[in-house]
Amino acid sequence: MNKIFPQGYAWINGEFVKLAEAKISILDWGFLRSDATYDVVHVWKGRFFRLDKHIDRFFESAKKLRMPCQISRDELKKILANCVSKGKLESAYVEMIQTRGMSPKFVRDPRLATPRVMAFAVPFGWILKQEDFEKGLNVLLTDIKRIPPSSVDPTIKNYHWMDLVTGMLDAYEKGNDTAVLVDENNNITEGPGFNLFCVNGSGIFTPDHGVLEGITRQSVFDLAKELHLPIMKKSISVEELYNAEELFATSTAGGIMPITKVSGKEIGKGSVGNLTRQLHKLYWQKHSDDSWSTSISDILTN
Ligand code: PLP
Repeated sequence: MNKIFPQGYAWINGEFVKLAEAKISILDWGFLRSDATYDVVHVWKGRFFRLDKHIDRFFESAKKLRMPCQISRDELKKILANCVSKGKLESAYVEMIQTRGMSPKFVRDPRLATPRVMAFAVPFGWILKQEDFEKGLNVLLTDIKRIPPSSVDPTIKNYHWMDLVTGMLDAYEKGNDTAVLVDENNNITEGPGFNLFCVNGSGIFTPDHGVLEGITRQSVFDLAKELHLPIMKKSISVEELYNAEELFATSTAGGIMPITKVSGKEIGKGSVGNLTRQLHKLYWQKHSDDSWSTSISDILTN
């Protein structure tokens, strides 16, 4: 089949259009200043995964940026579901965006701009492809500092990605799959599009601050509770990272993904750990559970 790139559908300026035709003004502050927030939810086999949690975070982020979203939850759900169905996608990566919009007279004051909401759906994408699961991710621990939370609140999902992009470029140059960034105190933060978890003899740990509060990260807490596994948020040092028994990354773009190597050093036995495997299995089982997922056709017909 001859597929058009980019494959997918968008909702922009109040209309549904093919993704290749979705465009915004060069003067939008979202483009000129990264003054925007966004969220990404995924669809797996015709069902949104934890849609309400993504919409909650999106609304909360927009509110924190002092531009509360003017679209209702039900309207937004229908827009997202339509992007998926018009794009004829079974499994998708669905992004909702709110930019500050455009200034009427190109003046600096952000309050004068009219915010703009848009959305699009593309085929599902992975940070670690399914076929590479057993191999796991080989990450580079960079010395690049993640933008501190005192500068940009990382709980607002944002496009201030220069630190993360630099990390990725460094990682690719050195033959790694992706990068992990540290904070001002050399504690572990996160990577380009994922949170991090470390497993050792006392439990499962993830950084407690300076990171996006990922929905997949939250899912790991919910799954760990169900499996009666000890889990906690706390600072993680570089040493703890290297000495972990297991490491994994979490993201909407691929779920729970083992990290088997950090900067050339094998983690644990250098293979996928037991807890990672257990959490990964339960995570994918939840994709057909009504309390974790919502069918696209139900949204479209209600
Ligand atoms: N951290 C950052 C910086 C991200 O951009 C993302 C997702 O894009 C994540 C973590 C993972 O968040 P989620 O599990 O909600 O996809």
